[in-house]
Amino acid sequence: MSGSLAGVSSAAISAGGERSGQVLQSIASASSTAQGTAAITAATNRVSMSQIQGVKKPLLHANSFTGERLPKYGVETCQEDELGKILEDIDKWGIDVYRISELSDSKPLTTVTYAIFTERDLLKTFNIPPKTFITFMMTLEDHYLKDVPYHNSLHAADVTQSTHVLLNSPALENVFTPLEILAAIFAAAIHDVDHPGLTNQYLINSSSELALMYNDESVLENHHLAVAFKLLQNEDCDIFMNLGKKPRQTLRKMVIDMVLATDMSKHMSLLADLKTMVETKKVAGSGVLLLDNYTDRIQVLQNMVHCADLSNPTKPLEMYRNWVSSIMEEFFQQGDRERDQGMDISPMCDRHTATIEKSQVGFIDYIVHPLWETWADLVHPDAQDILDTLEENRDWYNSMIPISPSSSSNDLKEEDYPGDNSQDAPEEELCAAADRIQIQFTLDDEGSGNRGPPGDARGEDPTM
Ligand code: AMP
Ligand code: MG
Ligand code: ZN
Repeated sequence: MSGSLAGVSSAAISAGGERSGQVLQSIASASSTAQGTAAITAATNRVSMSQIQGVKKPLLHANSFTGERLPKYGVETCQEDELGKILEDIDKWGIDVYRISELSDSKPLTTVTYAIFTERDLLKTFNIPPKTFITFMMTLEDHYLKDVPYHNSLHAADVTQSTHVLLNSPALENVFTPLEILAAIFAAAIHDVDHPGLTNQYLINSSSELALMYNDESVLENHHLAVAFKLLQNEDCDIFMNLGKKPRQTLRKMVIDMVLATDMSKHMSLLADLKTMVETKKVAGSGVLLLDNYTDRIQVLQNMVHCADLSNPTKPLEMYRNWVSSIMEEFFQQGDRERDQGMDISPMCDRHTATIEKSQVGFIDYIVHPLWETWADLVHPDAQDILDTLEENRDWYNSMIPISPSSSSNDLKEEDYPGDNSQDAPEEELCAAADRIQIQFTLDDEGSGNRGPPGDARGEDPTM
């Protein structure tokens, strides 16, 4: 965020800082990171419970559109031609959002979403004034934190574009109404706004203001929704002003349902319902899916946005590796905070012990592949290429797992290092990486809630 104190970020990261010692400590330890700034903000500028943290005062944002001419691609850039060229691929899986960010003065979310709304004619369909749209998008993008390594507006742009491609699946042709399409793209665009780069579990364990606000339930996801809907109330930001009352209510409900479903603690039940739907799948004569009630329709949309959210392992390898670098850095920064604060370090968050490659294989085997395999069944054969890329990427990470001194490294020749292309990683090591994810689900499945006891980070995965 722009560095001003007022209204900066979430997060209440200075946990339970009612006691002045704690407040001072959190200020003293605050670095120049978003979290650091937010800690200072939370400590010095505590907002009342009725206010939504992280929303900048309207006067502070400089996103209102004052110029006469709207930029062709929604953002001012001196590389308009090159940007236009890359945006020709807006319908393709694996478009280079990193390059779009470079070409759009670091406004990938505004650029991508504008291109999608234009292509789908959503501005005309819903009578959204283009200036209002761009003002809202720039304000939204501004509320993603720039110094959070992964959960920034680039990730939001990626999820939005991925959702757009999934909506184009032939198996879903003419299945969703324009309002449902609008809701899905909007939900993807807002789904991580003002993410502090810390997990729900961390926010709960550290008794943060956000966890207090949302009673430990889907803390981040509730916050993303509250921030986004609050931003719509800013001057010149209400892109839904010309929708009638009923469509607005319906849209709001759908968006809430979709964003809340991005909470990883809901993953197992979401996937179970999707599997049931695949087993009882009904298709029309033309081969498209038959979804004739709200429950089924929203379930598909929730899974679609969830798939898009978990799509980085299905992207071209170079891009996937970039996502992994940034997400691991975010996990490690959380681990550093946990170490400094004497908390248990969450799984995958200890930069001194984590094996990145192993966690990716575990993440794919236990979470991403089961989900995408089921999605691919639902829209068969539309997602086959995506599934193929996922499997290739999984095998690449598996082949890159370094040989630990305790494993059977003696069996491998030196030139095989750092990984053996022909063999899978030792089972128990993979399970160790994945167990951390599974334990969470086991608890959830048994209806015992999705957390361990307060302050207990064991058995928790930072994806929760
Ligand atoms: P979100 O926070 O909305 O992006 O939810 C998706 C969850 O999946 C997050 O908690 C991420 O931490 C997790 N996730 C996504 N991609 C990866 C990845 N490549 N490796 C590990 N975790 C991931
Ligand atoms: Mg999220
Ligand atoms: Zn996300």
